Amino acid sequence: MTLYALEEDEILIYAAEAEERRVYRCTGCHRPVKVRRGPYRVPHFYHLSQSPTCRLYSKSQDHLLAQLALQKILPAAQTILEKPFPEILRVADVVWEPYKLIFEIQCSLLTPHEAKQRMRDYQKVGYQIVWILDDRVFNRRILRPAEKLIRQTPCYYATLRKQMFPIFYDQFEIFHNERRIRRGQCFKVELKFPGRLPVFTWEEKRWPRQIIQKTALTNLFFHGDLIHKALLSDTVPALRFAIENFRALEILTLSQHQQKEKWKLLKKIVRFCFLEPLGLLMRHLLEKAAR
Ligand SMILES: [Zn+2]
Repeated sequence: MTLYALEEDEILIYAAEAEERRVYRCTGCHRPVKVRRGPYRVPHFYHLSQSPTCRLYSKSQDHLLAQLALQKILPAAQTILEKPFPEILRVADVVWEPYKLIFEIQCSLLTPHEAKQRMRDYQKVGYQIVWILDDRVFNRRILRPAEKLIRQTPCYYATLRKQMFPIFYDQFEIFHNERRIRRGQCFKVELKFPGRLPVFTWEEKRWPRQIIQKTALTNLFFHGDLIHKALLSDTVPALRFAIENFRALEILTLSQHQQKEKWKLLKKIVRFCFLEPLGLLMRHLLEKAAR
């Protein structure tokens, strides 16, 4: 599914304005597409034949609704949906031109290689990705390999449930061995208010790991997200208290998990090195005595 397609003269046409029965071309794979409308669906183009390598082919209705929701949130005159970048053979979901930001909505799993490649490609043409992850696929107990990488860059979760106004949110979380062992409070993120990190020293002992990791790799944040809350916590005592509490919880939770793992390892050692050999020896002695 896609919101835009190409006419014969390479001009982009919006699905709501396209003629039914007329064949257009996909902006991603250039294969033939036609428009589809209905009382319960967003007008969109669909591929006339299978095109599994085209990213636009597998886009869902929720994906399109999230694009439209972002267009409503961001200044309309500065936002472009499904902008093609022919030099890198990609079509960006939502581009916020003055800030050189691309909002990439991800409703399906992807590999870390694909995530890294997409970030590199857009970086080559001067844009930075802000990831929007569908929280029915990501934000689960097991951390997806690509999610681990993406969570260190500007990235938020979204409640995409066939609704026009999904919530874009950030959250406190604690990871251990690729598992999300604790999920904290969620914060609604105001994507129309980006900010750049001022010069600031982030002491490892004081701040939750998440904040240390993100601030080491990016200087972009949005109002309402964790980095913004951390910056505000210098002047807002309630926020400082919440972050200090979460950091204390993180230290406690991680040390409890490490203790549990030590016990598990100790039990394994006792079983393999003592109990099982002892059992074998006993059986051997009993068999010998019975003979
Ligand atoms: Zn296509």
